[in-house]
Amino acid sequence: MNLHDLQAAENKLLVQTYQRSPHLFVEGRGVHLIDENGVEYLDLLSGIGVSALGYSHPAIAAAITAQAPRLLHTSNLFFHEHTVPLALRLTEISGMDRVFFCNSGTEAWEAALKIARAHATRLSTFSKPLGRRFLALEHSFHGRTIGSVATTHKLKYRTPFAPVMPEVDFVRFNDTEHLRELFSSDVCAICIEPIQGEGGIHAVSKEFFAAARELCDTTGALLLADEIQCGFGRTGRWFAFQHLGVSPDVLTVAKPLAGGLPIGCMLVTDEVAQSFSPGMHGTTFGGGPLVTAVAAAVIDAIRNDDLLARIRDVGGYFLEQLNLLAARYPGIREVRGRGLMIGLELQSADHAEGVAAAMLDRRIILNRTSETVLRFLPPYILERTHVDQTIAALTEVLADAPVLLAAAASTPGESFHE
Ligand SMILES: *Cc1c(COP(=O)(O)O)cnc(C)c1O
Repeated sequence: MNLHDLQAAENKLLVQTYQRSPHLFVEGRGVHLIDENGVEYLDLLSGIGVSALGYSHPAIAAAITAQAPRLLHTSNLFFHEHTVPLALRLTEISGMDRVFFCNSGTEAWEAALKIARAHATRLSTFSKPLGRRFLALEHSFHGRTIGSVATTHKLKYRTPFAPVMPEVDFVRFNDTEHLRELFSSDVCAICIEPIQGEGGIHAVSKEFFAAARELCDTTGALLLADEIQCGFGRTGRWFAFQHLGVSPDVLTVAKPLAGGLPIGCMLVTDEVAQSFSPGMHGTTFGGGPLVTAVAAAVIDAIRNDDLLARIRDVGGYFLEQLNLLAARYPGIREVRGRGLMIGLELQSADHAEGVAAAMLDRRIILNRTSETVLRFLPPYILERTHVDQTIAALTEVLADAPVLLAAAASTPGESFHE
């Protein structure tokens, strides 16, 4: 079926939750996606931070090929061979003690919210009383299920589904005073993305994160770090909180974890883990043999190929080159990011949309988030030559800006969330 026919058929058959860009990809190799006409696109988005090892990575293909004919599913009623090797790796790289596996980011976040409530219940029963309220941050994004949207800041994600989960207050971003003002023993957890993704690539400050840790320690409330987008190597360390000096009680991981297969996980301390007992939470598919085998292979590949060092090197180079560009083009308001999680803030939403569209015309995929921010979440295997290619294209596109404003077409626009 060609692109035109697919578009028409999807328009009739699918619930219209996405505004897809009119491109049909049939294959991927390395950092490139290939469309139905064999045209290659440089992918600087990796499926919104998912395809961390790029496309058709031999380690992933090998893990799938080894496991697919053996066993795909057992349910969580039985043991299989692959949970432990992955749990060992995840606890080692994060410093957390225990893992709960699920299938997506929002499920990992729901598990985090539920364990925070369960923890408050347990604490209230056995020691000091703790309330049920959550503090989340302005411009946060935690997913699409009803608890996750409740802790997501943008009104358009919440209001159509009201009433969402009650008892959530939003703290001004990086405003430690406001955090202290809103915090009390009514709060069961503080919710933080160490670097906000959908919110436009904004990093929480060391001071703010430390204040959250300290406040939680005064009451027994939990610090929840959502690293579904910023974690698992993206910033050049395994987790973004590792740049911040203190650790959370609960950590959520998903997008890149199985290199493109659906998976999520919540990591917790031993103390927090006690709040869930058998039967309190679960999932049919979570932690199945195929995805866990693949995720372990992804971790091994990141280690074997020394990709964290590569992310720091290529990411640093990318930021440096973008900053040079920003010095020449007043249309660029700010360059932000760490490792291979980068945002380029432009003057206006139209400008950002126009630049994203023009880059796509030049066969470079990126996207726009938070209206004015161009977002780069490339695969970890990106090389300096790809950065050079991107900078050359951006230079042309930015020089051409007035033309672009008229040309703003359909790109992977305000991400898949629009
Ligand atoms: C994408 C994302 C989620 C939701 O993950 P899904 O797999 O789409 O449910 C949650 N939190 C953050 C920070 C994300 O970037």
